[in-house]
Amino acid sequence: MSKVVLVTGASSGIGEKIAEYLSEKGFIVYGTSRNPNLSLERTFELIPLDVTNNKLIEKAINYVIEMEGRIDILINNAGKGITGPIEETPLEEIKANFDTNFYGLINVTKAVLPQMRFQKSGLIINISSIAGYIGLPYRGIYSASKSAVSIMTEALSLEVKQFGIKVVDVAPGDFITNIAAGRFHSPVLKDSAYKNDYEKVLNQMNDEVDAGLDTKVIAKVIHSIIQKKNPKIHYKIGKPMQRFSIVLKRILPDRLYEKLILNHYKL
Ligand code: NDP
Repeated sequence: MSKVVLVTGASSGIGEKIAEYLSEKGFIVYGTSRNPNLSLERTFELIPLDVTNNKLIEKAINYVIEMEGRIDILINNAGKGITGPIEETPLEEIKANFDTNFYGLINVTKAVLPQMRFQKSGLIINISSIAGYIGLPYRGIYSASKSAVSIMTEALSLEVKQFGIKVVDVAPGDFITNIAAGRFHSPVLKDSAYKNDYEKVLNQMNDEVDAGLDTKVIAKVIHSIIQKKNPKIHYKIGKPMQRFSIVLKRILPDRLYEKLILNHYKL
C-alpha cells in the first residue's frame, strides 16, 4: 500500500522538490501552500494551508484523512527567513518568524498526531537548518527559530515513541531556492552602527544560497530516511564544510570557533 505524505510549503523550493520526488517514487503526496496555484500542472495535489491558521490546518488535515484514511508521513517544511541586526529587528517581525518557523510547525504537528496515534504509526520530519546549530551574525533570529525546532524535535521523539511514531530533524545547509526573496530583511539603515557589516554579511549570505546545492539532493535524502526502520534523530544535509562547521563547534574552544565565524564573514 502506498504511503500517504503531507508536505507543508510545497509550492516552491525544498518542499516542492520533496513532494515531486516522493510522488514520482509512488507515494501519495499532498503538498500545501497559502495560495495554491491550481493552474500549474503538478505530480501531487496542492491544498491550501497556512501554518499560522489552525482552522486551515484542521481543514487540510481532515481533507487528507477523508481522501486517504490516513497520514503516514508529515514533512514540516514550511518556513521563512529573517535577517538583520538583532538590535534593529522589529519585535513584531521576530514574533512573525517564530509564528511560522516554530509555532506554525507545532500547530501542524499537534493536528496530525491524534491520527498517527490512532494508526499507531507515523513519521514526522521537521526541516530545521544548519543555521540552527550556530548563532550566525545578522541571522540570529532565524538561527534561534531553527534551533528551537531541533531541540523540540528531540523531546517530541521521546514522547511519541511509545505510540510507534518516529520524529526526525533534518537540517539543510544552503540550497538554491527562493528563500531569500521571501525573507524579512531588516532594512539597512543609513545611519546604523551595523550598516557596513550587515550589508557585507547579507551579500555573502545571498551568494552562499545561490551557490547552494540542488534541492534534489535533499529530496533523495528524505526518501532514504523514509526507508529506514530506525532513522536517527538528526540529519545534516549540505556541503561538507557546512556540515563540518557543526563538528568544529563541538570540538573547538568557544573563542577559537568565534574567530573562525568572524573570519568567515570578514567581520
Ligand atoms: P521557499 O521560500 O522556496 O519555500 C518556503 C515554503 O514555505 C513555500 O512553499 C511557502 O508556501 C511556505 N510557507 C511560508 N510561510 C508559510 C506559512 N505561514 N504557512 C504555510 N506555508 C508557508 O524556501 P525553501 O524551500 O528554501 O525553504 C523550505 C524550508 O527549508 C524552510 O523551512 C527553510 O527555513 C528551510 N531551509 C532552507 C535552506 C535553504 O538554503 N534554502 C537552508 C536551511 C533551511 P506559500 O508561500 O505558497 O504559502
